[in-house]
Amino acid sequence: MDDSISMEVDGGNITQNPENMERSEMEEDIKKKKTKAVTSDVWRYFTKLGPGDDGIDRAQCDGCKQKFKAGGKQYGTSSLKRHLDRF
Ligand SMILES: [Zn+2]
Repeated sequence: MDDSISMEVDGGNITQNPENMERSEMEEDIKKKKTKAVTSDVWRYFTKLGPGDDGIDRAQCDGCKQKFKAGGKQYGTSSLKRHLDRF
């Protein structure tokens, strides 16, 4: 009940400044994430191990420690994304 009243009172002056700043920052953040797409998102759940003996890049799932041939140009991150889809 009190909330709606205080919101209306604050709306004019006091909250205007910080709210505007936070909002525009968040919008920019969302835009950046969208353009970067899901590819970089994958690396929040996997760790790049780098190329193995065969020169193929590998990545390890942070959750189940499973290793995948991924991360390099040949394999990309599609297999990692598929693995994440199972969760
Ligand atoms: Zn996993």
